[in-house]
Amino acid sequence: MLIPTYQRRDVVCAAVEALAKTDYAGEIELIVVIDGSTDGTAEALSRIETPFPVRLVQQPNRGAAAARNRAAAEARHDVLLFVDDDMLCAPDLISEHARVHLAGADAVIGDVRRDPGSAPGFMSDSNEAWLKRQGGPLTLFDVWTGQLSVRRAAFEDLGGFDEAYTDETTFANEDADLGIRLLARYDVRHNPAAISYQRFVVSPRELIRRAPLRAAGDIRLARKHPQVTRPLFEARRVSHWSTRFVFGPLSAVPLAARLWAGIAIPIAELGLRTRFRSSRTLSRFFLGARAAVYWSALRRLGWYPLSDRLLVLGYHAVQDWSEDPALKRYAVPRQLFQQHLESLFRRGYQFINPEMAARFLTDEAPLPRRAVLLTFDDCYADLPSVARAILRPRGVQAIAFAVTSVETATNEWDLARGGPPRQLLEPRDLRQLPALGIEIGSHSRTHRSLVVLSDKERRAEIEGSADDIAALDLPRPRFFAYPFGEVDDPSRDVVRDAGFAGAFGIRNAWVDRSSDRFDLDRVIVHASDRGWRFRLRTAAPALFERLDIAQARLRAKFSKASPAKPPRA
Ligand SMILES: [Zn+2]
Repeated sequence: MLIPTYQRRDVVCAAVEALAKTDYAGEIELIVVIDGSTDGTAEALSRIETPFPVRLVQQPNRGAAAARNRAAAEARHDVLLFVDDDMLCAPDLISEHARVHLAGADAVIGDVRRDPGSAPGFMSDSNEAWLKRQGGPLTLFDVWTGQLSVRRAAFEDLGGFDEAYTDETTFANEDADLGIRLLARYDVRHNPAAISYQRFVVSPRELIRRAPLRAAGDIRLARKHPQVTRPLFEARRVSHWSTRFVFGPLSAVPLAARLWAGIAIPIAELGLRTRFRSSRTLSRFFLGARAAVYWSALRRLGWYPLSDRLLVLGYHAVQDWSEDPALKRYAVPRQLFQQHLESLFRRGYQFINPEMAARFLTDEAPLPRRAVLLTFDDCYADLPSVARAILRPRGVQAIAFAVTSVETATNEWDLARGGPPRQLLEPRDLRQLPALGIEIGSHSRTHRSLVVLSDKERRAEIEGSADDIAALDLPRPRFFAYPFGEVDDPSRDVVRDAGFAGAFGIRNAWVDRSSDRFDLDRVIVHASDRGWRFRLRTAAPALFERLDIAQARLRAKFSKASPAKPPRA
């Protein structure tokens, strides 16, 4: 039994006293991790008599997930039972968990009810309403650490709790995160006979303080497991009329949520001390303030309202090759590349990771507003250093499209245009990219235009390159980029049948729900995209292209030079 606790001496003592009444006859041990409490928790706990050994572990405050991992690392038995410090267990709770584990379960959840010792009033009323399980198959919302037992081997195999969820910037969801991973691979069972009683002691001020942290925690969960984005925000009632017509619009009004909360906290504190403590009006007013704070935090973080549009940017080398006739247009110097990223950050764009893009395309997972995905074509040799120096420090992930079978590992397809050969990453060097946050996609085997090939050659280029990447012990590629952006129906069909999640061309537009998943629009960024040109190219790519062509024609007319060459990738 593992209990993490922080600054809740009286409640955690009640929790341990309840456990001491257990009827379980097998071997057990209790580990309490005191996560930086300064309220005398350790002394109070050491005075409690228990029929099993108790170990108190003290550590500086590191958050609930880290405290639970620490407790698990200290544990010696085969099953870990996590109990929150406000959870009073029924005497047969341990026996009920043990029974289901003996029947073969890898993890067991029970039922939680309200403890009569909870402070009365609307706060614990609404918490009780939330505790009631809805029935149906288990979902991520059912797996939470209030009362959860896991086979230790499974817990260790999954790497325990993700400690990023309970650092100082977010609150909660470390249990939902573990739940998603458990449900995907293990036998998780619900035993309604395993009962604990939650003694709800959270104050109104604390509940409001947590609201923006919860928003950040939800975003973290959505970025890591994009497939749950829709159900997650539906559970937060994103489609409910109150969000659509009240909290949503209100979240756009500066300070409105904070003002509401500023009034609601003292009223709630006062109300809870009177006979109106369970009043529905009081409850609605206070929980409304909490919702307003949550949605305005979500909007500030770029995730409200949710979006169904995606901007995909295509880069090549990040180099100053302005003297290279073949690549001067497509190689973007480092400093300019950094300016591009800063421009996007400043304008509120949200960089999404490849997993979010895949789930957007295959599972209709929604995206944050102004979602942008970074891609690199051809895998020039500078890519690892760009990722290390520029992308990783900013937390930006990307997809890089590799050409998998060019003998010289250079851009042979550009030589006809007069530039020197440029070094690409050798296939074996692609292996270092995933650790730098870059997923490898396929860009064919030899970068020949697919539209002029025979059916057999086309298959070899597309399926063969996926095989090449898999043969390097890399994950089989999920994304494809057409060489030169040239695609026709037969090559599109081969890409689809090869099992890719999506394939990119080079039309200048945003991707949306009406896009063809195997002919996705992508905006190729040029070395000339400085200042307003970059802003316009990203904000309104189709309009930019029309203006750009018009400008090029005008220039050609006056200089009698040839018009701009068509784009390539
Ligand atoms: Zn290319």
